[in-house]
Parts: sequence; structure tokens; C-alpha cells
Amino acid sequence: MEKIRVVIKIGTSSIISDDGKIKRKFLSNLAHELSEHTNVSPIIVSSGAIGLGLERLKIKKRPSDMPTLQAAAAIGQVDLINAYKDVFADYEMLVAQLLITRATTADRSGYLHARDTINRLLSLNIIPVINENDTVAVEEIKFGDNDTLAALVATSINADYVIILSDVDGLYSADPNTFKDAKLLKRVKKLTKEIEKSAGGAGSVRGSGGMITKLSCARVLLAANIPMLLCNGANIQNLRDALNGQAVGTAFFDDASSGLTAKKSWIALGAKVKGKVVCDDGAVVALQKKGSSLLPVGILSSSGSFKEGEPVDVYDKYERLIARGIASYSSKILEDNIGLREAQEFIHRDNLVVF
Ligand code: GLU
Repeated sequence: MEKIRVVIKIGTSSIISDDGKIKRKFLSNLAHELSEHTNVSPIIVSSGAIGLGLERLKIKKRPSDMPTLQAAAAIGQVDLINAYKDVFADYEMLVAQLLITRATTADRSGYLHARDTINRLLSLNIIPVINENDTVAVEEIKFGDNDTLAALVATSINADYVIILSDVDGLYSADPNTFKDAKLLKRVKKLTKEIEKSAGGAGSVRGSGGMITKLSCARVLLAANIPMLLCNGANIQNLRDALNGQAVGTAFFDDASSGLTAKKSWIALGAKVKGKVVCDDGAVVALQKKGSSLLPVGILSSSGSFKEGEPVDVYDKYERLIARGIASYSSKILEDNIGLREAQEFIHRDNLVVF
């Protein structure tokens, strides 16, 4: 019987305690649950390297300089993967370490190789434990957060669903720390303006994600037709329920979504977005309702510097992200063509992911 592929994203706060130590109890609960769910092929995306490294270096406050963060990641990744290896061995499960950078996945063949390796590990019944290779990633080629990395992994291997274990119970109608009447949203089918507004900022001392990156991840997974469950990792019952296929926390899922082709999944997340265009209402309708290409005549403005073949975000004039696609030509050429009726399409429909 084909196993269910579940990507489990574990945030720093779920795996590292406030004093910077690994939460062994959490890890053994995780391993225990996975050993009980033999119909599931787990793929773990785990943060924690930087947090553990900082603890080893006795650094209390997250530094802002890259070399120190990268050194911390290099130190902490060893502790992180060792903890997985040791704890999972108690349950007779073998783990494999994959460290991925966006420099690799921006190149389609690198992306496909990473995908093939994960698929092979799964067929060997080995649990991939994936993190960003923080030691070599620099700003321009960084995922920056493991939520995005988890979405990339999930879409590349066509996962059945994604569980994001976090320190929040899910997505609320407003910030629950400020608004006492904020309600947990149990089901999200579409990222509306209100939902985006409720996400706020965030990111803890040791981790780097917040609700915004979780919504970016959800946006792509909604388009890819891969359900995502965002729930609190502190309660292991959540993981148990999620592995049993029950909805916990906030379930992001749109039954009406038709999914993404393999190439479009890569377009959505493989490489870092290099620029942004804003388009008029007519173009928005053409993209969303008619499956059209994006033409310069519908573009109002362009920002950022990008070359032909690089990914660009498409916004409506109300500042909402509506699509992402591969530029047919550079920002320089686009600037000369904005608004022109007869100009060549800027993003071809085959290279466009509409959210
Ligand atoms: N890759 C980072 C780490 O392992 C974490 C990134 C994140 O928090 O999303 O420490």
C-alpha cells in the first residue's frame, strides 16, 4: 500500500527550550508517534541549528552578523541531527540529513536532484531531516525561514499534506495577545485581505519565522492543492490527530484548487523573487479568470532589478500578491514597454502561478 507523505515542519520553539537546550521529550514523543503511524512516510523539516549553536557559544541574544549566525548554525546542526539520530534510533528509525540552499533549488536541475534524493530515501524507509544550509546561504540566495523550505519540499515531492508545528494554536482572526476576543480560524480556503492583516509580524529570538512566512507557505500550498495544518507543537495530541488525518489548529485547504504542475511548483518557490510588478484591474481578471499571460499593457509599474528567466511577483493595485511568474525579459526592457499594447507578453501563462 502506498504510504501517505506528510511533511512535518518543526519550528525552533517546538524543539528548543527557552534555555537553549533540545527538548528531548518532544523528540521522543515525535518519534513515538511516527513509529505508531506506519502508514505515514514522514519528511521532517527541522529548525533549531542556530538556536542550539548559540547555546553552545553561550550567546544569549540573537546576533545580527552573518558569520556568527552561520558559525552557530554549523555548530548547532551537529547537535540537532545527532539528537534526531539518537532518539529515532530508540524506535528503530533511521534518519538522513539534507541541507538545502536556494542556490541549489534556483537551478531546476538542482531542485530535481534534491527531490529525487528525498524520494529515494522515502522508498528506503528512511526519514529525511531537512534544514536550510545556513552556513553557506547569504541573503540573496536564502530561504530565510523553514516554512518556505517546507512548502518547497512538499510541492516538489507532491506530499499529501503538511503539518506545521509551531508555538501558536493556529491562525487567529486578530492577534490573540492583544485582542482577547480573537477567534481561532479552523478552516481557511483563501488568503483574504483580512486574513493577511491578522497575521502581524513576529519571529522569536532563536527562530526566524512568524505568521507571515506561514501564510506565504499556505498561499503556495493552497495553489498546489496540498492541505496544510498549522498547530501547536507543545501538545503532542495535535500531531497524533494530524497524523490520523484529523483537522487540528487551522486547516488551510481549498477543495476547488486544481493544483500546480511540477514546473509551476518550482516557479512558485525554487528561486528567490527578484522583482515586483503592479498590474491594473483588467489584467488581474485576465490572470485570475481567463488563465491569460501577463502583458505589458496591463502593467502599471515595475520595481526591482531582474533578468530574463528570473521570478517576479505580480501585485494588484491594492497591494495584494496575486501571482508569481518567470519574466520573459529583464526589468530594463520591461520599463520601456510598460503600458504598450503591442509589446510581447511579459510572463507567459505557462510560466505563471496564480494564487
Ligand atoms: N534554519 C534555521 C535553524 O535551523 C531556522 C530557520 C527558521 O527558524 O525558520 O536554526
